[in-house]
Amino acid sequence: MQHTNTQRHFAAGEILCRQGEIGECAFFLETGKVEIFVEQADGSTVCYGTRGAGSTIGELAIIGNGLRLATVRAIEDCNVLVITRHEWERRLANSDPVVRMFTEIIVARFREVMRRESLLPMPATMLSGEDLELCIAGASGGADRLRMASELKLAIQKDELSLRYQPMIAVDSGRVAGFEALLRWHHPVRGPVAPDEFIPVAEEAGQIIEITRWALTEACRALKRIERAQDLPGLLYMSVNFSSEDLASPDFVERVRDTLDQEQISPRQMRLEITERVMMNRSASTRDNLARCRADGCGIAIDDFGTGYSSLSYLNAYPIDTLKIDRSFIVGMHNDADAFGLVQSIIGLARTLRMSVVAEGVETAADLRTLRALGCDHAQGYYFSKPLAEMQLLAFLAAWQPGNVAL
Ligand code: C2E
Ligand code: CA
Ligand code: CA
Repeated sequence: MQHTNTQRHFAAGEILCRQGEIGECAFFLETGKVEIFVEQADGSTVCYGTRGAGSTIGELAIIGNGLRLATVRAIEDCNVLVITRHEWERRLANSDPVVRMFTEIIVARFREVMRRESLLPMPATMLSGEDLELCIAGASGGADRLRMASELKLAIQKDELSLRYQPMIAVDSGRVAGFEALLRWHHPVRGPVAPDEFIPVAEEAGQIIEITRWALTEACRALKRIERAQDLPGLLYMSVNFSSEDLASPDFVERVRDTLDQEQISPRQMRLEITERVMMNRSASTRDNLARCRADGCGIAIDDFGTGYSSLSYLNAYPIDTLKIDRSFIVGMHNDADAFGLVQSIIGLARTLRMSVVAEGVETAADLRTLRALGCDHAQGYYFSKPLAEMQLLAFLAAWQPGNVAL
């Protein structure tokens, strides 16, 4: 197999690797001796030293993703173990994120120190200072994510998370049909952190399950309060976003059931929003979990429909009842014939499969008119309202006149 580590022999005089090349492997020298030399900008060559059995050579280029800093030549017959970049990356991917981050930082710093203190003659092909800064910045971006992950752990207890609710409007009648619950994190120092920023961190750090649990409960309670205030019991629905980690957890169905029971929300009023990515995992337990929620009466919507994957085969395999057309198609609909065609096709597809369709990102009256002409069921977007805090939402509902946006 080309990707596994291999044993190789280099005869005296042969080159193991060349300065300036992209490093595809590192070498562990089992027997023999090599010399390391660096070519200067003026074309002269400086010998940097020799290495014998037991040394590792060329690891910086694969760890730090940089170019070879020097040329290595066998000065005796050598037996080496070749460790490929692929193998290194596979092992790194399976290692602890702190180990990963520290490794990247150490390599970037080491290269920088060598450059600053001119321990290594500066060759023409060496990485520029800017590249090094970028490399260090990239590694400390990892540090930022780690810090964020540890702060997120406390965010629930410290009451820093909240939900906003965005109304979803029935396109034909102009009535409010339901809401989507959207997370917000107000960090005491950073200020508001966008969900696109912190949700991936929460997913990676394994905190999303607890966050979703909190969001589900909170969204149900809010729905109950809104119903009471509007005197509309059982008529509105609440959409909640779930990540693949949620769907894969063994007690997922029970948790949704228990929450709905406890908060006295009918499953018919609950819609689970899942992105296409989740479907593509093709996990049997995810499909089972969704099927059980669907059997309980919950709605299942595919979020950002059309952005993820070309295969539509999952639409039959999963118990889906709603497609949400991604905002990018709605925004482009009036200027881009392809975007318009896609919106039209998705609505047609939903009709054929007897699913309902929601358009996201509706920002203008023209968007709404077009969607109505195409037969879209529900619409959501700044044209009606931004996501609102519960108090603002109550005021919005009290003032909402369906006739203003109806035919
Ligand atoms: P999404 O589920 O696709 O949510 C729709 C996003 O579009 C929201 O961004 C919403 O504020 C924004 N939006 C709605 N109408 C308009 C419009 O007319 N114009 C424009 N430009 N934007 C509009 P938000 O709240 O920043 O959320 C971003 C994403 O974060 C969500 O995308 C969702 O993927 C994720 N997210 C938010 N809350 C949760 C949650 O509780 N759990 C999970 N797993 N993900 C969440
Ligand atoms: Ca969503
Ligand atoms: Ca979406």
